[in-house]
Amino acid sequence: MTRYDVIVVGAGVAGSLVAHRLGGHGRRVLVLEAGAAAPASHEPSADPLTTYLTASAKVPGSPYRAHPAAPWPEVTDLSGTEASPGFRAVGHLRQDGPLAYASGYVRVNGGTGNVWTGLAPRMLPEDFDTESFGYGRRWPLTYADLEPHYRAAEAELGVAADADEQREHAGLPLPDGYVFPMRPLPASRVDRLLAARLDGRRVKDPASSCEVELRVVGTPHARNGVPDPRYDGGRGYVPRGRDGRPEPGNRCVGNASCVPHCPSYAKYTPLKTQGRWSPTVTLRDRSVVSRVLVDGRGRATGVEYRSYDGQVSVAHADVVVLAAHAVENARLLLLSRLADRSGQVGRNLMDHPVLLTWGLLPEDAGPYRGPGSVSGFEGFRTGRARRLRAPFRIELGAWGWAWAKGSVDSDVAHFLTEQGLFGAELRRAVGDRVRRQFTLQFEMEQGADPANRVTLHPRERDPLGLPRPLVTYDLDEHVKEGMAAARAVSDQIFALLDAEDHTDYSPAAAWPGRFSYGGRTYGYRGAGHAAGTHIMGDSAATSVVDAWQRCWDHPGLYAVGCGSMPSVATSNPTLTMAALALRSAERVEADLAARDRPGHLTPPPAPSAPQAPTPPSPTRGAST
Ligand SMILES: Cc1cc2nc3c(=O)[nH]c(=O)nc-3n(C[C@H](O)[C@H](O)[C@H](O)COP(=O)(O)OP(=O)(O)OC[C@H]3O[C@@H](n4cnc5c(N)ncnc54)[C@H](O)[C@@H]3O)c2cc1C
Ligand code: SF4
Repeated sequence: MTRYDVIVVGAGVAGSLVAHRLGGHGRRVLVLEAGAAAPASHEPSADPLTTYLTASAKVPGSPYRAHPAAPWPEVTDLSGTEASPGFRAVGHLRQDGPLAYASGYVRVNGGTGNVWTGLAPRMLPEDFDTESFGYGRRWPLTYADLEPHYRAAEAELGVAADADEQREHAGLPLPDGYVFPMRPLPASRVDRLLAARLDGRRVKDPASSCEVELRVVGTPHARNGVPDPRYDGGRGYVPRGRDGRPEPGNRCVGNASCVPHCPSYAKYTPLKTQGRWSPTVTLRDRSVVSRVLVDGRGRATGVEYRSYDGQVSVAHADVVVLAAHAVENARLLLLSRLADRSGQVGRNLMDHPVLLTWGLLPEDAGPYRGPGSVSGFEGFRTGRARRLRAPFRIELGAWGWAWAKGSVDSDVAHFLTEQGLFGAELRRAVGDRVRRQFTLQFEMEQGADPANRVTLHPRERDPLGLPRPLVTYDLDEHVKEGMAAARAVSDQIFALLDAEDHTDYSPAAAWPGRFSYGGRTYGYRGAGHAAGTHIMGDSAATSVVDAWQRCWDHPGLYAVGCGSMPSVATSNPTLTMAALALRSAERVEADLAARDRPGHLTPPPAPSAPQAPTPPSPTRGAST
């Protein structure tokens, strides 16, 4: 049996980056991936775009066919109900409330990183210590510690943004002279319209009673724009195409289907990183890891995994890196009964609950072109208001009411069935409504709360016989207060725009995430930003991993991904998660280099003793 230097569990964003870095050092890396990398010989060919276009429900996982042995939670598994508890969850991810956890993920090669939107902002320095605002948990590292890794992640993912704008209007202390690999994406029509009408106007935050100035600010994107020739000391950046190969002309061309699939491959996916793996990295797909193996002293020695027909295999390595995403990483640690001295495995599950408000502008908003959101309002992320309500970013939705209402289909259905319009009249009515649609997406920070957690379901099992994950989830007063403030801000923005507000969180079936607060009903969606299930800290008594994402008590075992984040902040989390993964890869490489140093392994001979022959240095990835 081959023994590897490193086993990586999961070939999503984090796993693909770690394997790439370690493969680059010549390490023998085995990547075990639950999903399929390509259809089996007896399966029909499965081009993601065709699969998506022929799917009945256009949801994030629809470009792929889930195999029963590696199931994932799809948003269609969750529906709202009028009766308590207000939602029903079926499928892979079971839930026992009190509120709905409204996010999913995808288990195919490349993971959720295939279907993500591709927004890639950094966290702000103050986000690393929300305890100082009276909620959540403090990170065991600072923004400054992570800053070089942010730059590395921006190179790996290929980020397009304006450094000056990020400094001035998002409050990021970017190093002097830093430029992003690519120039910012052009603002969408709705961005330009809102900027013209709103930049410099002020709205009142009801939680803090302060006024906040509005300004439309471009969001950093992990999708190809125009390379910045000043990047990397004037060496520039070459955009990468479908398989990660340099494609200088590859650009986001505005197809507007980033979620779930970018047909021009302008959006970053982990397949671009995999295309640059060294030959020392081996991908074994359709391999569902079910247990981490440790020796008598708790050191990781390998993993047990199952093929889709249930056959159990074992692989050995000096280092095991769990990169199966927040829910599945926690499930694996719980299945292995490891790393839980603190009792925090699976706890502190976070997401960005998203409040959507939507309406019609008086004029043409030009929606359904370009990425789902290009820009946002950054003024509600920071400051003392955080003490009083959850902070939030406002993304300006560029795909009309698609996320809120399932437009355009729902518009046609509305005019056809409720108003009885046909032919030219129907076309005119749909056209008039669709061209004026816009949405505000308020992404709330949710603090770490140990009561929000992933456990193993006591009865439900997947087809491989493994207990399904069970989620217990709620939103606290801080988040609800944030949503109330967001709704009040939305009301003011709609008034300034002279927009018709069509926000309506009914019918219940469409809003599994719904609650009443202060006499008003709120509906929320999940952002797909699962975080916090193997939380990072500075003590084994209170956290699952250390600042390098190493599991306390288990040398050689790492758990990487958003699950390690002590706070999810207001930024979309993947860039931060990628920076952390690259930082951990450096640590793994240092551990392996120490292992390989003969001096490290051989005690110095006693002065009077005869000189012992030096043992041969261990070969990297020595076979068993
Ligand atoms: C619709 C949507 C839009 C999003 N948009 C954004 C965005 O704009 N910006 C942003 O920052 N974030 C976004 N996210 C979140 C982002 O996708 C995740 O943060 C990111 O993909 C997490 O990367 P990961 O490598 O940890 O997990 P994943 O990308 O999910 O990869 C995990 C991998 O592990 C594999 N795996 C799981 N279990 C096992 C097992 N037992 N054995 C072997 N392999 C296993 C999976 O198959 C998968 O390949 C979005 C998410 C969704 C759902
Ligand atoms: S807007 Fe279109 S081209 Fe651009 S990333 Fe999205 S899907 Fe790809």
